[in-house]
Amino acid sequence: MAGYYNNILETIGNTPLVKLNKIVKEVPATVLAKVETTNPGNSVKDRMALKMVEDAEKAGLLKPGGTIIECTSGNTGMGIAIAAVVKGYKCIFTTTDKQSKEKVDILRAVGAEVIVCPTNVGPEDPRSYYSVAERLSKEIPNSFWCNQYDNLSNRLAHYESTGPEIWEQTEGKITHFVVGVGTGGTISGVGRYLKEQNPNIKIWGIDPYGSVFKKYHETGEFDEKEIYPYVTEGIGEDILPKNVDFEIIDHFEKVTDKDAAIGTRELARQEGIMVGNSAGSAIMGVKQLASELKEDDLVVVLFHDHGSRYVGKMFNDEWMRERGFLEDELKVKDLIAKKDNSDF
Ligand code: PMP
Repeated sequence: MAGYYNNILETIGNTPLVKLNKIVKEVPATVLAKVETTNPGNSVKDRMALKMVEDAEKAGLLKPGGTIIECTSGNTGMGIAIAAVVKGYKCIFTTTDKQSKEKVDILRAVGAEVIVCPTNVGPEDPRSYYSVAERLSKEIPNSFWCNQYDNLSNRLAHYESTGPEIWEQTEGKITHFVVGVGTGGTISGVGRYLKEQNPNIKIWGIDPYGSVFKKYHETGEFDEKEIYPYVTEGIGEDILPKNVDFEIIDHFEKVTDKDAAIGTRELARQEGIMVGNSAGSAIMGVKQLASELKEDDLVVVLFHDHGSRYVGKMFNDEWMRERGFLEDELKVKDLIAKKDNSDF
């Protein structure tokens, strides 16, 4: 390869795998983090965004001068926006009012139009971010709605790139893959690739309280009582996206908003890894499942996006205090300090 890339899209992927040393002290296994922040849009979603755009081009669904429409919590939008800038498309994104302001600002910075929709309405409600995206795609000529929930190019991107990278970087020694689940693209694509290499690899999904996945996976029941508002961003759903391949997932672990927020802060402070809220949730899930792991296990946990998108939230003490999360963080720290002292 020449000493430079032809455009920024060529820098997507080949992200580092980094050993976690302090935050997983009580976990007997080796835990490696697949840190996706080095992608140009600072999230794993660049991979699937580019794939959805290029598959749509190949299928003749996206034509020169067209408009790309998507409902996004921010990261997919960023990936699509980068592809759109390089390839010359317009972008309109719908998002929800629970997403951090930084994510909306970033999308606007790369020239996208962003429509903020209410979070607390059902997916069928005409005001929901799914419905608005669908309506715009019908109204706007020469437009293409990516629909990351049901567009299977999403999980295929991870089957083709993220999964093989993890397999090669661990030299086939990975025993567990752990990741937060939103559209399901990451877990399903990576999970399928890994299980094809070694069917004994365990695939664990992280699900926030307020999301339907765990109950559906365990009982086959879509229980509306499981649906209620929560803080954790990017993971959990009130729908069953086509990209979630429930068959390859061995277990869903629930993690609270508070633990996810504390985990996010601890990753920055104990490991120097500045990542987002779903990464905090995923690492707390690994810690909750410590008793399921053995010393010679090799766990890979995927961190989706960069922490700079959350500086006004989990990384902000006032935001933490308002939710009663900071007091709990201090209690946890106190307990750890006492435990550490008693080790001497
Ligand atoms: N974490 C973050 C921050 C995300 O933006 C997303 C995507 N919604 C996920 C996790 C979940 O990834 P996936 O959609 O591939 O399941």
